[in-house]
Amino acid sequence: MGVAKSLGKSNIKHYITEIMNGNSFFDEKLIHKNAVLLFSLLHGLMAVMFLFAGAFVQAVLCALLPILYNALTTNLLKKERFMACYMVTHMEIIAVVIILILMCGWDCSFDSYLFASVTSSFYFTFINQNKTQKGVRAWMPLILATLSILTFFLCWILCRAFQGPFPNGFAPFKHLAWVDVFYVFNTIAAFGMIVMFSYLFVWELENRQKVLATQNEQLDELAHKDSLTKLLNRRSMDTMIAARMQELKTTGKRFTMILGDIDDFKKVNDTYGHDAGDLVLVSVANTITSTVRTNDAVCRWGGEEILVLVNDPLDAASLAAERIRKNVESMEVDFKGQKLHVTMTFGIAESVPGYKIEHLIQQADDKLYYGKKHGKNQVVTTLEQKST
Ligand code: GH3
Ligand code: MG
Ligand code: MG
Repeated sequence: MGVAKSLGKSNIKHYITEIMNGNSFFDEKLIHKNAVLLFSLLHGLMAVMFLFAGAFVQAVLCALLPILYNALTTNLLKKERFMACYMVTHMEIIAVVIILILMCGWDCSFDSYLFASVTSSFYFTFINQNKTQKGVRAWMPLILATLSILTFFLCWILCRAFQGPFPNGFAPFKHLAWVDVFYVFNTIAAFGMIVMFSYLFVWELENRQKVLATQNEQLDELAHKDSLTKLLNRRSMDTMIAARMQELKTTGKRFTMILGDIDDFKKVNDTYGHDAGDLVLVSVANTITSTVRTNDAVCRWGGEEILVLVNDPLDAASLAAERIRKNVESMEVDFKGQKLHVTMTFGIAESVPGYKIEHLIQQADDKLYYGKKHGKNQVVTTLEQKST
């Protein structure tokens, strides 16, 4: 999962697409940095508007506040204290809203930002999962939201009590029409913030779900598969054999075990090295998997021993084993330009009602051993036949 470290013009489109597809995460630091940038820009925009509206005190205030705000947050971001950084942001929103409502009156709709701050407080607390304690995360958005609501009523009461409190604003606009301009601007900006943080929240959740699903798949693979060959591991094969045994008991459906061992594998390791041995092992596993049917189970039983569980009686399984033997024999493994060849010996045992699993495996092993003693590269079906 790639995490874009900077939002350059060239990668911004790719980054957003990646996030929307759930393939990438929002980098926490990047999110906070951009939030600080966004809030500062909003202040700058307001400063310009206040300037045009002739409200110079507010214009200067909006121009100077981002400097203080940036100074406070830069250090916190450097130390990766993201929750503290967001708290500064939230307090800054509250402070600016109080000041501007008191200076410009209730009708400019600066209170809308208090609603937007509730959404952002939940979002930022949620994304600070790694750094912040669980208890803090549970209470923080509620405390911050309560603070926003209290601020809302405090300003409302003050405006009501003092009729403004300054009827046309502390530093009055040139034209009263600017009240409407600010009303529309602030409402749209606050709505925009709510929509943006809600989307970010949803994407974040979707991404986390995707990551969890991938991690579950990986865990499942670790638990059931061999890491080198990607074949089933012995534990899952044991479970499968036990299930087949049970099926045999209840339905009489027979199955067969093919136990194979690579011939003279030590020589491969000794001559070409362990990496070459590993490559041969993986190639053998792939060849066997592609030779048998999809509902047959292939397992790495031991070092270079492979067990195949076939849903067929002995005759059909012998043919399958012979096909595997031939395919392994004709397989060519390219190791750093060198062509390696191996062969395999197989022992086959068919399930019989009343047999124990160990007994069945022992039978297959005995036949395999017999094949090893009698020339290797062969399929041994019955000991009696071979010995005659
Ligand atoms: P035989 O024909 O009798 O089977 O001879 P062999 O040389 O194959 O003898 P054996 O089966 O006893 O040797 C198995 C060797 O396989 C020994 C071990 O070092 C090697 N081996 C087991 N697991 C791995 C593995 O994961 N990677 C590699 N490269 N070698 C392995
Ligand atoms: Mg061997
Ligand atoms: Mg062996």
